[in-house]
Amino acid sequence: MTRLETLIEDSSAAKALEKALNHERLNHQDGLDIMKSDDLHLIGTVADEIREKDCSNKVSFVQSYNMNYTNYCVARCSICAFYRPYKKGVSSPDGYTLTLQEALDQVKDGVSLGATEIHIVGGFNPELPVEYYENLFRGIKERWPQVTIKALTLAEVSFIAKITRNSIEELFTRLKRAGLDAHTGGGAEIFDPTIRNIISTPPKCNSSEWLHTAEVAHKLGIPGNSTMLYGHVEGPEHIVDHMLRLRDSQDKSPGFLCFIPLKFSPGNTELLKSGKVTGESSSMLDLKVIATARLLLSNSINNISIYWVALGTELAQVALGYGGNDLVGTAFSEKVYGATGRNEVVTIERMAHLVREVGRIPVERDTFYKELRLL
Ligand code: SF4
Repeated sequence: MTRLETLIEDSSAAKALEKALNHERLNHQDGLDIMKSDDLHLIGTVADEIREKDCSNKVSFVQSYNMNYTNYCVARCSICAFYRPYKKGVSSPDGYTLTLQEALDQVKDGVSLGATEIHIVGGFNPELPVEYYENLFRGIKERWPQVTIKALTLAEVSFIAKITRNSIEELFTRLKRAGLDAHTGGGAEIFDPTIRNIISTPPKCNSSEWLHTAEVAHKLGIPGNSTMLYGHVEGPEHIVDHMLRLRDSQDKSPGFLCFIPLKFSPGNTELLKSGKVTGESSSMLDLKVIATARLLLSNSINNISIYWVALGTELAQVALGYGGNDLVGTAFSEKVYGATGRNEVVTIERMAHLVREVGRIPVERDTFYKELRLL
């Protein structure tokens, strides 16, 4: 018996870890056993072994530029420090909606920084018609046909479809025709309805609507991210449930390119002000969530992406040893986490250096996880 096998035998998550090493699909109880186990290092070791098998020793990222076209929002989620409340005819001193020209000027900056992907999300602004998005996407593609447009959270798509009285199919079809290449997957938060009702408000779609929107996107040939916001008021059972619902969706209608666990950043949010959360999740939880994702999603969603903007670059490096194989992107100009006080700027050279420091091979990729070049 190897030392790893002996350690696994003594672990409270033994059954789940053995199944993972035998390439068996894990179930809800397995996920819970892993999340509740104190053997973090052992779980990370097994996740790292599965990661090597699933994705080799390369660590990828894309050169991306984040653009947030409006911060007006009717949803007012307690997890959010980015939005300004939308009220018809009333403007907020720091509220904004970019004009087409302002948006294109920002994209120009992003392209000049080397971005191959323009990542576009915003608040739920009911004044914007479908044409606003169509003109933006068309304008980008006309000027920079080489860039990939990864735009809108699935929650935004669900909202825009409702207020413009389009079906999800109709809306996606129009947006794709205008230049949309991929969705950003955001707004998933946590699917469990009890938790979801605490962290977001009704204009944001429920979990069935989110998953339906993803499935329609994938059927129409628009792939994208899958995400989960953790580290607020959820428990381990909600995390496991969320990951397994994504896996089920991927079985039904494949199109998720990656899974990105997003650590909740409480600065300036209502959840912090109300005392429902008192601070950030521990690094122990962050690493366990990443390892659990690798083990539960293996052979379904194989890219487990570490969002360094939320974790910080040092913890992101550690997370690469707990099942992560991707660092998302350079995220130039990111504002949503920036509103909570996280404002780190990282160049592509710095990202490559971070990867080399942990003994792995940095790779620039495109939006669709195709390798562009070794760095
Ligand atoms: S998380 Fe999104 S939907 Fe919720 S308030 Fe912020 S911008 Fe609006």
